[in-house]
Amino acid sequence: MPATIISGTEVARTLRAELKEKVARRASSHNGTPGWIPGLATVLVGDDPASRAYVGMKNRAAAEVGIHSRQINLPADVSEDELLGVVEGLNADPDIHGILVQLPLPRHIDEEAILEAILPEKDVDGFHPVNVGRLAVGADDVLAPCTPKGVVDLLLRSGHDPAGKHVVVVGRSNIVGRPMASLLLRRGRGGDATVTVAHSRTPDLGAVTRLADILVVAVGRPDTVTADMVREGAVVIDVGVNRVDDPSAPRGYRLVGDVDFEGVREVAGALTPVPGGVGPMTIATLLANTVQAAEAIRARSEQEVPA
Ligand code: NDP
Repeated sequence: MPATIISGTEVARTLRAELKEKVARRASSHNGTPGWIPGLATVLVGDDPASRAYVGMKNRAAAEVGIHSRQINLPADVSEDELLGVVEGLNADPDIHGILVQLPLPRHIDEEAILEAILPEKDVDGFHPVNVGRLAVGADDVLAPCTPKGVVDLLLRSGHDPAGKHVVVVGRSNIVGRPMASLLLRRGRGGDATVTVAHSRTPDLGAVTRLADILVVAVGRPDTVTADMVREGAVVIDVGVNRVDDPSAPRGYRLVGDVDFEGVREVAGALTPVPGGVGPMTIATLLANTVQAAEAIRARSEQEVPA
């Protein structure tokens, strides 16, 4: 029987609707306490079309759930100091609870220095070393990177709790593979999995992936996982997004994942499509992180009000 298709588009729609409700509740005053609105700032340096499109999507999605969003566009030749100044301004801005600097940055800017300048409590991408470290030691209230956090949410909401399962993650990047493993290893909801991480130096990848109850693939190469590499009935989450030439497509290309979708759907129990799988969850999770950051910042500032 062909695999059930896990629709990230649908699950993300549910998540966004929940967030919209939550944001509306926070926005209305309660027992005389004025309401408030979470704020997200996105910073775009240069005019790379893909980055511009991603930032635009993130801002539109934020606005749709009622999050106040501010997009800051800077020229490609902005200096590192100027960019640091913008980040510091956003750190100090009480209306902004989440800061996202769209990567990649131009070569003359030290990406690490910029990411480290963002206040960890406003780091909605989860890339600040403090958040990376807290996630690695299993903290459960940390701002975790959106893609792997979205994958966990997608698994839970589609009835594939990773607890007690053997999850094989293919890819060890800081954005997807590593935080994916850290999230799945945490104690409690969304975690408690047995995790194996494979990468380009793993000999006989198929021997490893065939052990998976749940297989998460984040490589960036089409057809990295084929049907013979998947155990019958396994749940397969395809994180990859790759452009392949297709003269019949309106833009001359189409998007595919890292998994041979047609082949693997004949063996897997459940499978995410590309597009319409992990991608929509990543964006919805950015919104969830913004609300989470805003709530934590608000709670802290309420505790700090002098008597
Ligand atoms: P990276 O290039 O940073 O990492 C790729 C990983 O795959 C590396 O760890 C690499 O191993 C491993 N790898 C490469 N070739 C092989 C191979 N033949 N066999 C096994 N492992 C291999 O990519 P990202 O993690 O940033 O992204 C991965 C994919 O996910 C991309 O297609 C990207 O576009 C997509 N993506 C999608 C998102 C979404 O929202 N849907 C968000 C983020 C990414 P090694 O470390 O040894 O080099």
